Amino acid sequence: MKKFFPIGIATLFAVLFAGYGIWALWDSAREDGRDEKQLKVAATFSPLYDIAKNVAGEYANVELLVPPGASPHFYEFSPRQLANLQGTKAIFAIGYGADDWVTKAKEAIPGSEITLVDQGIALLSSLEEHGEEGEARDHGPIDPHYWLSFENARIIADTIARKLGELDSEHEADYRENARVYGQELSLAEHEIKEQLSTLESRNIITLHDAFYYFAQNFDLHIVGTFEPRAGEEPTPQFLARLREEIQTNNIKVLFAEPQMNSESLRQFAKDNNLALSLLDEAGGVEGRDSYIGLMRYNGNAISQALK
Ligand SMILES: [Zn+2]
Repeated sequence: MKKFFPIGIATLFAVLFAGYGIWALWDSAREDGRDEKQLKVAATFSPLYDIAKNVAGEYANVELLVPPGASPHFYEFSPRQLANLQGTKAIFAIGYGADDWVTKAKEAIPGSEITLVDQGIALLSSLEEHGEEGEARDHGPIDPHYWLSFENARIIADTIARKLGELDSEHEADYRENARVYGQELSLAEHEIKEQLSTLESRNIITLHDAFYYFAQNFDLHIVGTFEPRAGEEPTPQFLARLREEIQTNNIKVLFAEPQMNSESLRQFAKDNNLALSLLDEAGGVEGRDSYIGLMRYNGNAISQALK
């Protein structure tokens, strides 16, 4: 009896494990089945992700690629993330250098396509609109920050609705309706921020990198200059001398740093020149600005506080 006892226990465990194994397999198949039925898409970074989620509603699954609080411009996929993304049909992206790292996903995720959301948007040129003459910009000749305007956000929502409808025709009308309702929310928020910024003392601002020209156009602000000649590039003393002249001429009192970019030199420059500091955010994703509208309100508030 004693001799057979361990075998009895072993058998019992074997049966239990086998039973658990079968249950686990059934359970994961059930979950996969549920996910497989629903369209799976992704968006490169937070504001775009939020717009896509509003349009997708309950009908499609949207994944976020850049973790909240990280810069959208510099990013690398982890192998684990690529594994999680298998089955993704469309990845919504901005393009033009904003999130070009996403092109790597196309090969790594068979059956996926990258959908730029720029259709129908009046793109600004970095060179002509706000670059130094003849100077190459980090982002290329098109300024990619077009998501930072409400008008463009409405166009982006419609583009996403069209794409989701193509991939999942059963819910085509639902996606269109979601985009319409969300478009109204965007218009309301835009109207409120315009009101808030209608009585500013000054409309002149200096930002850290060249992210806010579409935002400035939306709210009738004037970007006098950027602290970095190109995104992520330290300014030379000559560049700063010119910037100091602009600050004098335009009576600038505040500089805008950014949460995802290294702002140390800008902080020092502000201190040396007796300028106040505020913050503008191109990517959000963190508490208080995790939605697109929250991000735009945050930037509106920052400008309203700084220039009142
Ligand atoms: Zn940027």
